[in-house]
Amino acid sequence: SLSGSTVRLGHRFADELPDLAVPWQAAEAPEPRLLALDEELATELDLDADWLRSPDGLGLLTGTRVPEGARTVAQAYSGHQFGGFSPRLGDGRALLLGELAMPDGSLRDLHLKGSGRTPFARGGDGLAAVGPMLREHVVATAMHALGIPTTRSLAVVATGRKVQRETVLPGAVLARVASSHLRVGTVQYARATGDTELLRRLVDHAIDRHHPAAARDAEAPYVAFLAAVVDVQARLVAQWMAVGFVHGVMNTDNMTLSGETIDYGPCAFMEAFDPTTVFSSIDEGGRYAYGNQPVVAEWNLARLAEALLPLLDESEDRAIEVATEALGAFRTTYSAAFTDQMRRKTGLPEGLADDVLVPLVDELFPILRSGHVDWTTFFRALSSAARGDAEPVRGLVLDLRPLDDWLERWRALGPDADAMDRVNPVYVPRNHLVEEALDAATAGDLGPVERLVDVLRSPYDERPGLAAYAAPAPPDFGAYTTYCGT
Ligand code: AMP
Ligand code: MG
Ligand code: MG
Repeated sequence: SLSGSTVRLGHRFADELPDLAVPWQAAEAPEPRLLALDEELATELDLDADWLRSPDGLGLLTGTRVPEGARTVAQAYSGHQFGGFSPRLGDGRALLLGELAMPDGSLRDLHLKGSGRTPFARGGDGLAAVGPMLREHVVATAMHALGIPTTRSLAVVATGRKVQRETVLPGAVLARVASSHLRVGTVQYARATGDTELLRRLVDHAIDRHHPAAARDAEAPYVAFLAAVVDVQARLVAQWMAVGFVHGVMNTDNMTLSGETIDYGPCAFMEAFDPTTVFSSIDEGGRYAYGNQPVVAEWNLARLAEALLPLLDESEDRAIEVATEALGAFRTTYSAAFTDQMRRKTGLPEGLADDVLVPLVDELFPILRSGHVDWTTFFRALSSAARGDAEPVRGLVLDLRPLDDWLERWRALGPDADAMDRVNPVYVPRNHLVEEALDAATAGDLGPVERLVDVLRSPYDERPGLAAYAAPAPPDFGAYTTYCGT
C-alpha cells in the first residue's frame, strides 16, 4: 500500500478545467491530532493506515504536506440556495488536493473541508469545528454501510486551532473522498460564464468520469448525460426516503453529478414518520422537508437542464423539448425506485403487481403518521409480524384496527422475514446519540463517537447489548435542530 513518497495525487480537474480551479494552499494546522480514520476506506484507496497516522500522513490529511507534483485547488461553483441563485459560491473553506487513481482506472477526489479561507470564502473564516466534521464522518460512514451512494470521510484531524462560533470551539479538517466534487452548481457556474466551450469541456469531463455510456450516444451525448444524472439522482433520493434521511440543504451546489450524497451539514434522520419533518434551523418554509425531497431533486435537475441547454441542440426550442423529456423520466424512475424500496422493506416478492403493491404501501403511511411511529423501528419490527408475532409492531401503534387490517392483507402476500432483516436497518444515526457523541468529542472524549461509528458500520446485524443504539430519542430530547456551515 501507498505511503510517503509513493502517494500520487493526480490533477486532472485542474488541468482540464483551469477556469474552475483556483490554485490554493491549506492553512497551517498548529497541532494536528487524528480524531477519526476510516481504515476500510484507506485500504480501498491503497493508502497505508499506519502511515496516515504519522506526522507525514497527517500532513496529507490536513493539506499542509502534499506529495510532490500535487496541484491543490479551490473549485468554483454556483448554486441555487433555497431557490435563489448565487453565481459565485465555490470552495470557501475546502480544497481539492487531487485525484487518487483506483486499480480499475477510475479516480477518487481527495478533498479537504475546513482547510482555511480561499478566494471564495466571502465573509466566512474558512474553518470548521470538530463537532460538525465528526458529524459528517459518522453520518457518511453510516450511509455507506446502508448501501447508499455517498461521498465518504477518510479522516477527521483536529488542527489545534480555535474556531469562533457562538462559543470558541476546537477546529478540525475533514478529508473527504468522492467520485468527484462536480455538482449541479458547477455546471451552472460554467453556463453563467457564457463560454459554451467551457461548458462543453466540463460536461465532457463529467461524462468521462461518471457517465461514460453517454459518450457512446453519438447522436446526443449531452442529452444522454442529463438523463444519466436524472437517473442516478432519482434512485439516490428514493434510497434516502427509504431510510428516513433528511438531507436538510438540497441546494444545487449540494447535488452531485455522480449521484453520491454530499454535504452532511444539517442532515438528520426522521424518527416519527411525518413528511413535514424538518431539522435545519434555517429551513423555515420546509423547502427541504423529508417529504419534499423528491420534488426538490426534480427542481434542481431542471436547473441542471437549463444550464445544459446550449449543448442539447442548436435550436433552443428543440433543446427545451429534449430537456423536458429527459426530466420527465425523474418521476417514473423515482416512483419505481421508491416503490421497489418499499417492496423490499415490506418483504414482498419481486414482480408483485404494482396495482397490489402501491395501494398497500400507500395505506401504511397514514397509519404510521397518525401513530407518530418511529420509521426505523417499525420496519425492523415488521419482520416479527412476518414470522407470526405481530405484537412488536402492534405495540408501536395506537389505533390497531387499521393496522391489523393492513397486516392481514400484507401477510396474505407472503412476506419474507429474513429478506426484510437484510434491508431494514436496526441501527441508524439517532439524532440524540449523534449529538451526545459530538459533545463528548468536543470536550475531548472520542469514545462515544468511536462506539457509535462501530455500531453504524453493521446496521442490519442486531447485536446484544446495543438496544440503546436502536431506540428513538427519549421525549425529553425535544425537537431537534441542526445548523449549516458550522
Ligand atoms: P454549504 O451550506 O455548506 O453548502 O456551503 C455553502 C457555501 O458557503 C460554500 O461556498 C461554502 O464553501 C461556504 N462556506 C460555508 N461555511 C464557510 C466558512 N466557515 N468559511 C468560508 N466559506 C464557508
Ligand atoms: Mg455544500
Ligand atoms: Mg455544508
